[in-house]
Amino acid sequence: MTVQEILAGVRAAGVAGDVVGPGEPGYDLRRRVWNGCADRQPAAIIRAEGVEDVRRVVAIAARMGCPLAVRGGGHSLPGLSTCDGGIVLDLGAMNGVTVDPDRAIARVGGGALLGDLDRAGAPHGLVVPAGVISHTGAGGLTLGGGMGWLSRRYGLTIDHLAEVTLVTAAGEVRTVDADRDPDLFWGLKGGGGNFGVVIEFVFRMKPLDRVETRSWTYPPGMMRSALLALAAAAEAAPDTLTCSAFVTPAGLSLTVLQSGTEIDAGAWDAFANLAGPGADGPRYTDFVAFQSRGDAHVSWGRRYYARGGFLERLDPGTADTITDIATAMPTADSEVYLIQLGGAVARVPEDDAAYSGRAAGWYWIVQPLWDDPAQDAACLAAGRAGAKLMAARSMAVNYVNEQADTDPSIASQAYGATKFRRLQALKRRWDPGNVFRLNQNIPPE
Ligand code: FAD
Repeated sequence: MTVQEILAGVRAAGVAGDVVGPGEPGYDLRRRVWNGCADRQPAAIIRAEGVEDVRRVVAIAARMGCPLAVRGGGHSLPGLSTCDGGIVLDLGAMNGVTVDPDRAIARVGGGALLGDLDRAGAPHGLVVPAGVISHTGAGGLTLGGGMGWLSRRYGLTIDHLAEVTLVTAAGEVRTVDADRDPDLFWGLKGGGGNFGVVIEFVFRMKPLDRVETRSWTYPPGMMRSALLALAAAAEAAPDTLTCSAFVTPAGLSLTVLQSGTEIDAGAWDAFANLAGPGADGPRYTDFVAFQSRGDAHVSWGRRYYARGGFLERLDPGTADTITDIATAMPTADSEVYLIQLGGAVARVPEDDAAYSGRAAGWYWIVQPLWDDPAQDAACLAAGRAGAKLMAARSMAVNYVNEQADTDPSIASQAYGATKFRRLQALKRRWDPGNVFRLNQNIPPE
């Protein structure tokens, strides 16, 4: 099927939202996604205005058999929310967030960003625990699991999911929860975009009371000792504290967030002077502002590669490996990132959701970051080599959301064999033709 035939087919479907095709005004702007490496040329980009547009686009993609990329916030590392020669269904205009403060419930559109969600909850002192960068899409993040600064205290984003309304491959609009279609609800909690286009998520919110952060930086020569000291301090920390580390060729930056009805000033003592006097960094008490502190560093259009995995513990051998990988990164902005897990994440039974890896103590990401396409080969090679070293020290299961490659082994290993079989059975039931295949794909067979 040609690009012209696909574009004509989409136009004939009569969607209410804007449709643009190659060479038309706005096309180059609309086809952009977060990762500058994902420079694709779709046949048609639809800015959906509502559920009826979504149904029409899913129907036409299924009938034509062409690739269908569903785009929430556009932050897929491998560029799975765009495609060459197929359809992009952009949900960016379906980004409404409504908070019911009395019931502590948030209704979140399938194209909303984390910043939309944080800003809607904060005036009511409420939050849905999610990720750490405000321009990330709530859609893709939630469907993979969703981890961030409040995960240890409250759990993953999916642990707060009350209800999901989606358009299935058959064009049906279904609302599912723990009682209605519990099996599909289980699969949506970690199974990615494999089962349909989510129009709306309903979340149970948590109190966003007091928050305080501290950070310290250390020069390259102190990276290893500071990482080990962080590991020891983190292991003893209560769930109200979450630690993270950015390890770059220029050194190590540690950030710790504390949240609760009260802030325990004494708790900082365990982190100050971890490996000698680190330089004291900015402090935040406003959660919404803190959630944007990394936005510019990982801004739209830069070039990224990332692979991630779960560590049970941060042991001395792993600290050595992290230090070696970070030191060898080809650009100054590249990093190995660590965020502490455990706490409330680990208290939810492993079988509760498709998401796998609740026993992890830490999540790591090896992330080269660059701007010049001439550095693509060097950065990809460094990222893949570093990730391979880390994977050898990591748990077998993994998080599907932070993987910049898409080979079939990623999904099959991420969930473990038993969950993967259950997900395949769900896929056979809800999307036997694999209409939703631009994701970490769970093939029906
Ligand atoms: P998109 O590229 O729009 O979509 C990603 C995938 O999800 C695609 O397969 C798409 O089809 C599918 N999808 C998106 N929305 C829908 C929908 N409404 N219905 C059906 N399918 C949909 N993850 C964390 O857990 N914690 C973090 O702190 C975190 N930080 C990040 C920071 C950055 C800068 C980036 C790039 C990623 C981060 N991630 C984090 C990973 C993030 O969760 C994934 O990249 C996620 O897929 C992004 O969702 P999106 O909607 O922006 O992406």
